[in-house]
Amino acid sequence: AIDFKWIRDNKDAVALNIKNRNSNANLELVLEIYEKMLAVQKEVERLRGERNAVANKMKGKLEPSERQKLIEEGKNLRDGLIMLEEDLLKLSDELQQEAQFIPNMTHPDVPIGEEDRSIVRKMVGCPREFSFPIKDHLQLGKELDLFDFDAAAEVSGSKFYYLKNEAVMLEIGLINWTLSEVMKRGFTPLITPELVRSSVVEKCGFQPRGDNTQVYSVEESDQCLIGTAEIPVGGIHMDSILVESMLPLKYVAFSHCFRTEAGAAGAATRGLYRVHQFSKVEMFILCQPEESESHHEELIKIEEELFSSLGLHYKTIDMASGDLGAPAYRKFDVEAWMPGLGRYGEISSASNCTDYQSRRLGIRYRPSEPTSTNPKMVKGKFTPTRFVHTLNATACAVPRMMICLLENYQQEDGSVIIPEPLRPFMGGLGLIAPK
Ligand code: AMP
Repeated sequence: AIDFKWIRDNKDAVALNIKNRNSNANLELVLEIYEKMLAVQKEVERLRGERNAVANKMKGKLEPSERQKLIEEGKNLRDGLIMLEEDLLKLSDELQQEAQFIPNMTHPDVPIGEEDRSIVRKMVGCPREFSFPIKDHLQLGKELDLFDFDAAAEVSGSKFYYLKNEAVMLEIGLINWTLSEVMKRGFTPLITPELVRSSVVEKCGFQPRGDNTQVYSVEESDQCLIGTAEIPVGGIHMDSILVESMLPLKYVAFSHCFRTEAGAAGAATRGLYRVHQFSKVEMFILCQPEESESHHEELIKIEEELFSSLGLHYKTIDMASGDLGAPAYRKFDVEAWMPGLGRYGEISSASNCTDYQSRRLGIRYRPSEPTSTNPKMVKGKFTPTRFVHTLNATACAVPRMMICLLENYQQEDGSVIIPEPLRPFMGGLGLIAPK
């Protein structure tokens, strides 16, 4: 239920938004297909009316020749309708296909431009000063026997890894700690399917096909590997009408994530930074439209609390329009200091997708109080449904968190301290020491 009428009526604003978002959506084509579809729809309705009129006439007393004439007329109308209905279906598919590329509108406070226009909204801590030459996570991992990239390259390909020894405990500890922290804040835990239908991927605003797709598709099936738990969690209430009292729905989901990383050559690709498969704990909220901005703030606050309790130095950034994915209305990223890499690296991302995903996924709710301005509806029992807003945010993307922890907590003797909150989730382990 994309609102094409709204898009047509707000054409200039949508066109400007497409430009600001650096999107290659073709608005002219979308509107052209939409107009064509409306014309065919009108014709279909006209023919249906005529067909009904003929059917009604047939109910009366008729001369045989007249009846024959009406039968002929009815048959012609039916044949015409079948053809037009096929056209309508094709146009509607084409429209959905093209409309996928149109991005969500943008929050008025979002800085317009490329990534360099993004605004730092918060900075916590400062880079740790080391009194000894530091190592990056790859070197630490090698000396502490935590990863095997070589075997993974043979078995799976580049950008895969085995975790070994304490790194396994660290991954599981991070997931477990994050889940329990977020559950404490009222979120329902989920473990999701990791293969989903490509139609659901599309409805969440991701492109499952094309040269630059980030999504792996399974050959000879309509399924894809998920790039993020946002997709199966978004789909959990697909095609349903919720009741207001159920909202907000808050989920915290663990899943593996799979990404082709097409076009990522040249970006930081060393070690765990950009890999094809990783574990992630993701938060997801479905809420009433009026509440999505405050839930966006809530999500970023939870992220900041988590990263602060692990003692990270990070900054929270209000991302510029050119850097927002198609579904996001506004996006806050967190970048943390990674001493071995000598730079900040993105560790999380929190997006308010407003009704972009819910329109495509068909997730509505019925307000308890009538909201319509139509007096007939307000007086009666019927309350029109509304689309929910959806939000998603990273609670812990494990590999980048591992980079932060190993590199920030390394000591001169080559050992790595485990931050206090994680220890109970790692069998009490407080230190990863050289063997
Ligand atoms: P995104 O869903 O693209 O916003 O990603 C969420 C988080 O997952 C990012 O902030 C990163 O911390 C992490 N991430 C994304 N892509 C990768 C990757 N290829 N390898 C490792 N971590 C990643």
